[in-house]
Amino acid sequence: THLLAPDLPAETPDDPAIIIPEDDAALTISHGRLLHQCHALRKQLAQIGLGHGTAVAISLPNSYEFVTLFLAIGWQRAVAAPLNPAYKEQEVQFYLDDLDAAAIVVPQGACQQGSAAVLAARKRNAAVIECYTKDRDVCLDVKEIGGLKGKGEREVEDPREDDVALVLHTSGTTGKPKAVPLSHKNLSVSVDNIVKTYKITKNDRTMIIMPLFHVHGLVASFMAALKAGSAVIIPPRLAPSFWKDFAAHKATWYTATPTMHTILLSFPLPSPMPTIRFIRSCSSPLAPQTLQTLEDKFKAPVLEAYAMTEASHQITSNPLPPAPHHAGSVGLTGGDIELRILSPNAEEAVPQGSEGEICIRSSSVTAGYLSNPTANASSFTTDGHFFRTGDFGKLDQNGYLYLTGRIKEFINKGGEKISPVEIDHLIAGHELVKDVVAFAMADEVYGQELGVAVVLSEGAALGERELKKWVRERVAPLKVPKKIWFPNEIPKTATGKVQRAKVAEAMMRDSK
Ligand code: ATP
Ligand code: MG
Repeated sequence: THLLAPDLPAETPDDPAIIIPEDDAALTISHGRLLHQCHALRKQLAQIGLGHGTAVAISLPNSYEFVTLFLAIGWQRAVAAPLNPAYKEQEVQFYLDDLDAAAIVVPQGACQQGSAAVLAARKRNAAVIECYTKDRDVCLDVKEIGGLKGKGEREVEDPREDDVALVLHTSGTTGKPKAVPLSHKNLSVSVDNIVKTYKITKNDRTMIIMPLFHVHGLVASFMAALKAGSAVIIPPRLAPSFWKDFAAHKATWYTATPTMHTILLSFPLPSPMPTIRFIRSCSSPLAPQTLQTLEDKFKAPVLEAYAMTEASHQITSNPLPPAPHHAGSVGLTGGDIELRILSPNAEEAVPQGSEGEICIRSSSVTAGYLSNPTANASSFTTDGHFFRTGDFGKLDQNGYLYLTGRIKEFINKGGEKISPVEIDHLIAGHELVKDVVAFAMADEVYGQELGVAVVLSEGAALGERELKKWVRERVAPLKVPKKIWFPNEIPKTATGKVQRAKVAEAMMRDSK
């Protein structure tokens, strides 16, 4: 049951495992070679002094080096901690401290350039290791040994299923990012579930476009593909050549956030169109319009899924045909995931079809956040069995889940709770509205009031009073926004998520 065990994909050693499209040719690494590489790397990691329990930060772009090193760290019982390579020094420092990282891996030349990652590592005396490829071999170059000095070599050791293989931080949508340790077992259960849901086989090829420093890219695209014995195509960067590479390397599916789908749709499409088995969408709500456009263009089912870091990614997904998939729903549970909709206060099951907090039990769920007793106490039900996702939702009669918002983002207007998601959906239905975000704003009378930021379609003219009137005609007076802003765009996080509190702050600032 450990995914990263050193016996992984050797069934078809000559088949490609990793394809890196490059301008002239492509770099192709077979499963056999990948396996061999990982063995060589874990030995080197042991020699550097890295092993059971030591956290190794990875600050690399999506690449052959990234995925190989990620596997090798887990095989050596150490803990991989991928970081966004675009982080500035202060951000890297926060993560290195939070992880108590012993080392950080950076691209070749980073030390000489004095990159943000290197500067942050020096501050806490972490070892700095540069990583590069030579003749299709991944090489490590220890530039600074830091606190590992004099610690000596570690033994080469196989991981156990309860060893932590990966620590990732949540996106920080509702507060400070929380560190989530995931064991080999957690990951392996999640990966098996994903492979089964989408019937991924060695005949598939996965185009990876999401960053590998979040569970979405790492677990759903890379690990699931590898576990199924198939190949991944890793473009070095997001570029308009996406579809050309997709077709040239015969990819069969990809997964992305709604924001990313929209970007990809703006890139030139190949002719003839590639044959896509399915497209997966996850991480934030997929607009029915985007789903429709993708399905019309690619003649492939678009399956929306629901996932979170704490569950090693996937919780539910719409199924492949012939089972139906529904726009607006995040689908059905799979694997060993048990899902309950509970009333947030009493922790009792709500009547079928009613809204409540989504709670899950699965061996893919983390044992608890890293050094965060407060979050750990509030994130599990009192009996300790179920993880409280903090998301609100309801199930239809066939078990399809509909997300209705996050608990922390509900607007408490004098004791009446308003779901910002409901307001988003409503106002998005106005023909002149391109994007909309509802949020809580402080109010002297009610404690909290409803504020809304609306981006209008190009050239559209619509006033605050007119839009309020439109809303009033459709919902109870409680849900009519107190104030509506009309910014040119709405700020989103790197993963395409909307931080409602941040949008609220920005709007208040603008109106001062
Ligand atoms: P933090 O926990 O730090 O506030 P976060 O919850 O955004 O950040 P992640 O673990 O990256 O961090 O994201 C999980 C959350 O993303 C889920 O709890 C859910 O709210 C949201 N989400 C995931 N998939 C979907 C989806 N298909 N539609 C809407 N929301 C989704
Ligand atoms: Mg969260």
